[in-house]
Amino acid sequence: MSESITEIKAIPGLSPEEFDAIQRVTEFFPFRITSHYLSLVDWEDPHDPLRRVVLPDEGELESGGSLDPSREKNFYVLPGMQHKYPDTVLILASHQCAGYCRYCFRKRLFIRRSMHEHPPDINNCIEYIRNHPEVRNVLLSGGDPLTLSSKRLMGIIRKIAVLPRIKVVRIGTRILSWDPGRVIADRFLLQELSELTGVQVYIMTHFAHSRELCGKALEAIRLLRRCGVAICNQAPMIRGVNDNVDVLEDLFNDLVAAGVSPYYIFQVRPTMGNSIYSVPILDAYMIFREAQSRCSGLAARARYVISHYTGKLHVCGLTDEHLVMVYHRAAFPGDRGRTILVKKSIASNSKAFFRMNHLG
Ligand code: SF4
Repeated sequence: MSESITEIKAIPGLSPEEFDAIQRVTEFFPFRITSHYLSLVDWEDPHDPLRRVVLPDEGELESGGSLDPSREKNFYVLPGMQHKYPDTVLILASHQCAGYCRYCFRKRLFIRRSMHEHPPDINNCIEYIRNHPEVRNVLLSGGDPLTLSSKRLMGIIRKIAVLPRIKVVRIGTRILSWDPGRVIADRFLLQELSELTGVQVYIMTHFAHSRELCGKALEAIRLLRRCGVAICNQAPMIRGVNDNVDVLEDLFNDLVAAGVSPYYIFQVRPTMGNSIYSVPILDAYMIFREAQSRCSGLAARARYVISHYTGKLHVCGLTDEHLVMVYHRAAFPGDRGRTILVKKSIASNSKAFFRMNHLG
């Protein structure tokens, strides 16, 4: 397994000025990288996209933004468990990650957790699911559930797997990018996953750039697929990392070649410190659409989505004046399946878009 590093001095080639600037940022937003990811970054290239993923940037100290832009606090039904969409509950199974993405929308977990964000009591979560027959899916997220011990993680999954209505468990994880060796070396995890019955496990990976799909990551994917796990990828479009047609086209094609379904590309949310990583919605959709237009049907399966307080919006078209969005998931029944038209002037200003409480 790859070591997690929090010392800025581990970063090669920083000038004293850069070191001081980064240190100022980390007083607010912590830094963490694995030795595996450290080896993927080209530290001699100041514009290396992987460097941008992990290296603190002074722009993060710009004021504005919220630590909870999607108002997740409104959807907690138990400590560590949210119930936003009727058929799905979200359990924040871990509050830790092997590395920290600078653009993380839940960075509050590493800084200042709300009172609802204590580690969940899994038995209470299971009881809640039992008492809510509308729940069909369980999503384990965090943080990163793969930072738990495999014994603990599989204990949680096994408790869910015996619930008769639950057929799908999703695990949102970036471990295959931060530390694929965590999976490769873990025979217990692989054995347990291959013997699991009662639910289909989906691993929701987070590869933001093709260079993260290195040989070790491909090996980890291969081993997980051999256990019968389905693998889908979701990642935000990040300024300076993958806000480029060629980069996104390569990512989609390389995911499909690895047996991973491209699932979502997300709009970066207006989390505090994240505006420098955000691409305006209209520009982001244009980049996404052009990249998809160059891909085969298999590689072009991802959707461009915006996670908003009111639900998940699929950005799906463009007219002369508007961006067309459809509620892919809706937190409130009146929005289910609703199509909305967003003026291009608003879609060019993501902050204005996210400020709206009601869309359309
Ligand atoms: S791996 Fe996910 S939860 Fe962890 S820092 Fe990155 S985006 Fe945030």
